[in-house]
Amino acid sequence: FFISFEGIDGAGKSSHIEAVHEALQQRGHRVLLTREPGGTELAEQLRALFLHQSMDALTEALLVFAARRDHLCQRILPALSRGETVLCDRFTDATFAYQGAGRGFDLAVLRQLETWVQDGRQPDLTLWFDLPPDVAAARRAAARAPDRLEREDLAFFERVREGYAQRFAEQPARFARVDSAASMDAVRAQVLQAVADKVG
Ligand code: C5P
Repeated sequence: FFISFEGIDGAGKSSHIEAVHEALQQRGHRVLLTREPGGTELAEQLRALFLHQSMDALTEALLVFAARRDHLCQRILPALSRGETVLCDRFTDATFAYQGAGRGFDLAVLRQLETWVQDGRQPDLTLWFDLPPDVAAARRAAARAPDRLEREDLAFFERVREGYAQRFAEQPARFARVDSAASMDAVRAQVLQAVADKVG
């Protein structure tokens, strides 16, 4: 079973992944916890380049998909074929949201890259942590997390959120939208319920 966690910076996804990890382990699942961009030695190096250097949108998209290809081949697909549950902090929806909707990169080209790199493989469940960008910005500033937020304005994150909403509308069967504006406990309950509904 393949589960991805998505949302704009500051939407809170990372803090709930560990809870899902523990809940699944308690129910006897073997779990691979990983993230994108990253997840392998090569992909983590690409992540560092991607995070710390400015580049045009096509270069950014190609780097993210190169990292994803390595991650899929080296870790995700082997884990799935061993029967493990894979929890991935971001996956391709982030590319459509950030590089596509956020930076305006051609969605048709992203779809081609997606087909080419993933060969039809999608997460079985995507938890989309949805939160207005101004609330996310306030949370992120409080946590002082170094991320894209420092370089981008709220309008950018409005577009990214819209990009997630569009993927959700296109592929509703694999998505669960989590209302991230709720309290920590309420968000956690929504997350664990969505996972239990799918994975059992
Ligand atoms: O999710 P995480 O905090 O690890 O993401 C690191 C940074 O990379 C964030 O600022 C996120 O917005 C950015 N990112 C991106 N495009 C992606 C994935 C992540 O701009 N496809």
